Amino acid sequence: QAKETGKNGLCFYTPDINDRLVQYQEITNLLRDALNNDGLELVFQPQISLSERKSDSCEALLRCFNGQSRAVSPAIFIPVAEKSGLINRIGDWVIEAACKQLNAWKKTPLENLRVDINLSGRQLTNPHLANHILETLKRYELEPHQLGVELTENEVFGSDENQTRQLEKLKEAGLHISIDDFGTGYSSLVYLRKLPVCGIKIDRSFLQHAMQNNADMAIMEAMITVGHSLGLSVLVEGVETDEQAQLVTDLGCDLAQGFLYAKPMPAQKMEEFLASF
Ligand code: C2E
Ligand code: MG
Ligand code: MG
Ligand code: MG
Repeated sequence: QAKETGKNGLCFYTPDINDRLVQYQEITNLLRDALNNDGLELVFQPQISLSERKSDSCEALLRCFNGQSRAVSPAIFIPVAEKSGLINRIGDWVIEAACKQLNAWKKTPLENLRVDINLSGRQLTNPHLANHILETLKRYELEPHQLGVELTENEVFGSDENQTRQLEKLKEAGLHISIDDFGTGYSSLVYLRKLPVCGIKIDRSFLQHAMQNNADMAIMEAMITVGHSLGLSVLVEGVETDEQAQLVTDLGCDLAQGFLYAKPMPAQKMEEFLASF
């Protein structure tokens, strides 16, 4: 339609907007196709305890493959899924897949590994979310503490009472709740105290800058201090070098995650990785 108008010289859409519309539609089609034809996969990235150099938990990250089995980045498809409403189906797929994996790890060396899934704020608006997660855990014969959820600050702080209630329910049941990309949103420390949260994951941008910038180093130190004084576990995301690992250890972080230790990997690789870690 935009092209038609263009021929008459009355194009209100810049090519750039058209490209984006096409891309949006393509990604929506891709996601729908992936949901219907086994095109989704979870990969897992270990979260490392810095004091003991072991891993008791990992983050599950979603991958979506197109026909040529090329992966599309979740940084691109998750926002599209949120906009199109597909996030609810995708979110349910992730809950199911994580529980299925935990069940498959039963009676293996990985049976005590917690899996943390990413939730989108939009999923929290479903008043049945907590029950749905708890029922899925039960169906796979799992304990609630085997699963964790991660939400970004804005998704939690911006939420109303009903949404917070979903999180409370999950925390009361024993799930691990963490705030993802901590420091990048409009975090109010007062809210942090009121929210049903177990841990914070400091966004990797702080670590990147802390190496050269004293202000970022000070902010990171402050976030760690506040997290600890509220009784929360503190993880730093995006540890890529030994120097960064030393820094976060010196700053007193509890946990670290990043390419230095492991990139996200398929489930089959996890046992091998953790055995040799
Ligand atoms: P996130 O939850 O903050 O996940 C961490 C991202 O950082 C992952 O990117 C991970 O691969 C990447 N990462 C880990 N260590 C390093 C490192 O040392 N250096 C660098 N440069 N990156 C590192 P990924 O897998 O591309 O995911 C991007 C984002 O997409 C996630 O950020 C999360 O917000 C979203 N996402 C992924 N899976 C899901 C999902 O199942 N549901 C929802 N709602 N969102 C998801
Ligand atoms: Mg995350
Ligand atoms: Mg993050
Ligand atoms: Mg994120």
